[in-house]
Amino acid sequence: MISRDCLQQSSLMAYKNVYQLLGVAFIVGLASGRALKADEDASPRIGIIGGGIGGTSTAFFLRQLYGPKLTIDVFEAQKVGGRTSLIRVNGEDYEAGGTIIHKKNIIYEFQDKGMAFTTTEDMLRAMGDDLLNMTRHTMNESLQHIGLSQRFIDEFAAAAVKDNYGQTLNAHGFLGVVSLMAVEPDLWAIQDGNKRMAELLLRESKANLIKGSVNTVALIKDNLGTGSVSYELDYTKATPGSDKETSESREYDIVVVAAPLNEGSKNKISFADFPRDVVTFKQDYHKLISMFVQGKVNTTAFDVGSQNELPAEIISIAPGCFFNSLKKMTPVSPNSKPDTPLKPEEAVWRVFFNKDPTEEEINNLFVSHSDLRLVDWWAYPEYQAGADLPPFMLYDRLYYVNAVEAAASAMETALIGGRNVALLAYNQWHGHFDKIDEVQLPSPAENEETKKSEL
Ligand SMILES: Cc1cc2nc3c(=O)[nH]c(=O)nc-3n(C[C@H](O)[C@H](O)[C@H](O)COP(=O)(O)OP(=O)(O)OC[C@H]3O[C@@H](n4cnc5c(N)ncnc54)[C@H](O)[C@@H]3O)c2cc1C
Repeated sequence: MISRDCLQQSSLMAYKNVYQLLGVAFIVGLASGRALKADEDASPRIGIIGGGIGGTSTAFFLRQLYGPKLTIDVFEAQKVGGRTSLIRVNGEDYEAGGTIIHKKNIIYEFQDKGMAFTTTEDMLRAMGDDLLNMTRHTMNESLQHIGLSQRFIDEFAAAAVKDNYGQTLNAHGFLGVVSLMAVEPDLWAIQDGNKRMAELLLRESKANLIKGSVNTVALIKDNLGTGSVSYELDYTKATPGSDKETSESREYDIVVVAAPLNEGSKNKISFADFPRDVVTFKQDYHKLISMFVQGKVNTTAFDVGSQNELPAEIISIAPGCFFNSLKKMTPVSPNSKPDTPLKPEEAVWRVFFNKDPTEEEINNLFVSHSDLRLVDWWAYPEYQAGADLPPFMLYDRLYYVNAVEAAASAMETALIGGRNVALLAYNQWHGHFDKIDEVQLPSPAENEETKKSEL
């Protein structure tokens, strides 16, 4: 049995299935976007480390900005899509990582004007001082400050951050707002899997995909004061049809790191021959285990009479409870057929845990199961109020897309981070310094004027 504490404090939330399976229309829309200004003459060599949404969107937006002559290499150690990937259960595919996408947010207005930011702090400040301040306070404090009741915060907001980030009300307030957005209606996902987004961004970018793991970024030329640098990327590549790995290197004028600089990461990147440390911040990542099970939930444990009475999602906010959430999953391809027809009571469930589950814990949740898979993630940062917000720029022409994750980790923020880095690299290369961190926010009087004219 699951302990009463764990159950009594669980929020039983039946989220409506919010998927709006939009197919590839989103990417087609992105691909038809007009380049700000394509400069045919200047074409730096660009190396991007990481083929998730962050890296592939950087490649996509760089291509839009610079035009066709640019050489872009994208290094990917595992699979394009990164933390968006699929898992197959009973012959059908389910999202194993990034699952739901939120609709448009305000940062695009700056990006549409070609503005870029050198730090996550500057980016948040441009969106409003209140949002930046939220990263300095806990979620509990921030949500109280905007007038939400303590009961709503304790029951609803705590469940939103536990389900979406495996964390508590001690996470910072900006993450709190993003977590609440993730339980709104009008969320969507991409038919056939969200990893299609990274695959199509890569295809449209016409970048070269190099299947290898980058071990070192070395500074090999530095004309101090001019911003002119060269980097060498040393990487290991698997040899097709053999166990052997080969070591190779390539030179670039611009390097983009589009993978978390997390100590625990499997494909750790070192920085060599720099006159100073380039990674002066700490980004610890949260370990999350996703378990996929086709089976029968232990209804007695949740005090419901039958499988049909179970809500689509159960979230636990009890401190010390062994699981975070349990959710009935929908396959990513609506027309796909399972290997064996599903009985209504044998749905596919996803359970999130903050640590490896024991067999006993699994048996507490499921009375029977026919298929069970575990995926181990360094999922997102551990969020703390007032922690470092890393910069997008690590050194001259060396950029870091995943700085954005310190504000909030999501597919959409990865895309925003990628576009910001593309704009930053382009603006710096062409000396468009007026488009970097130079956001003129409307004064309160101007805001009032706008409100009046809207009435
Ligand atoms: C379980 C889970 C559920 C989630 N749910 C949601 C959700 O519902 N909605 C949402 O918006 N977001 C969600 N997210 C977060 C979202 O998936 C991520 O924020 C986003 O996909 C990150 O993209 P990225 O490109 O920045 O990083 P990644 O996807 O991690 O891409 C980095 C890539 O770099 C590669 N790499 C790393 N090191 C090297 C190296 N040395 N050399 C070469 N390649 C390297 C990796 O293999 C990886 O493919 C979820 C994440 C997880 C784990």
